[in-house]
Amino acid sequence: MTINVRGYATHSATSELVPFTFERRDPRPSDVMIDILYCGVCHSDIHSARNEWGWTHYPFVPGHEIVGRVAAIGNGVSKYKVGDLVGVGCLVDSCRHCASCNEGLEQYCDNGFTGTYNDEDKIGGTPHKVTFGGYSDKITVDERFVLRVPDNLAPAAAAPLLCAGITTYSPLRHWKVGPGQKVGIIGLGGLGHMGVKFAHAMGAHVVMITTSPEKGQDAKKLGADEVLLSKDTNAMTAAQNSFDFLLNTIPVGHDVDPYMALLKRDGSMVVVGAVEPLKKVNGLLFIFRRRSMAGSLIGGLPETQEMLDFCSKYNITCDIEMVAMKDVNKAYNRTVKGDVKYRFVIDMASLKS
Ligand SMILES: [Zn+2]
Ligand SMILES: [Zn+2]
Repeated sequence: MTINVRGYATHSATSELVPFTFERRDPRPSDVMIDILYCGVCHSDIHSARNEWGWTHYPFVPGHEIVGRVAAIGNGVSKYKVGDLVGVGCLVDSCRHCASCNEGLEQYCDNGFTGTYNDEDKIGGTPHKVTFGGYSDKITVDERFVLRVPDNLAPAAAAPLLCAGITTYSPLRHWKVGPGQKVGIIGLGGLGHMGVKFAHAMGAHVVMITTSPEKGQDAKKLGADEVLLSKDTNAMTAAQNSFDFLLNTIPVGHDVDPYMALLKRDGSMVVVGAVEPLKKVNGLLFIFRRRSMAGSLIGGLPETQEMLDFCSKYNITCDIEMVAMKDVNKAYNRTVKGDVKYRFVIDMASLKS
């Protein structure tokens, strides 16, 4: 048995998203079926829809920042009941027995996690061989890969926490950002604006590093203590050797050397935006002052739940602009231009009208 689902899909790298009907599996004993209320528009959705990473299967249904209510549960589900507010992020399955999965780091599964969209559907139960994402009215997910969304968070503004939120929260936690540290957030978009909010809530001294004075002022409203303009070479030189940690959210390849030089001895810069070659890396900047550069990918299920609970405690959500499903193609074009503060979220009720 399957459930018929309505959504939006693209059918080629150059075509727009259009209405699309497909099937989800009926809940197995460990599954939760969710009525999707909201889904964020992540930059990865756009890269994938347009096949910019060369791995997209068509038809392609994007969306991995999903918030909804539990509509049905399998008879073995223990964590959720019908009506609960829940979320689904970037992964819907993993091998569950490798070292990473055993530590709750399913995003680093040695056997490859199953992405929420455009990935091999290893569970099956439908004629489709790939996973379809959250630009749809329902999704069926194993309860291990479902998150509880705290009731005090506005559901639409909580949706982007499932990707943009955890992508920035996880490295800040892993590198133990906290009071007494000077932390730079490089770039102010969907990721950067969450980085500013989290680093501020964790008690760090937060510096927004951006090319744009306007964005600098916006970042101050989000919790940044200072602004460093990366095009101001005098200011960049004066700030060298002063940062404990840098969260680099620049979404494209770039010269990392000017940023590495900002780190103190033993400081780290973590790249979360550019899934492509970085242009230049000078070993001298690593060797002198024992600096590190690393990357970080979203978060595992336990840490994603911890992030949502942290957001509940500090009243943190994303700044969003709501959009109707039929306007998603316009939202894509505006996202590519950086013309959104800071995330589009699709109101799935608009699918019905
Ligand atoms: Zn994403
Ligand atoms: Zn695994």
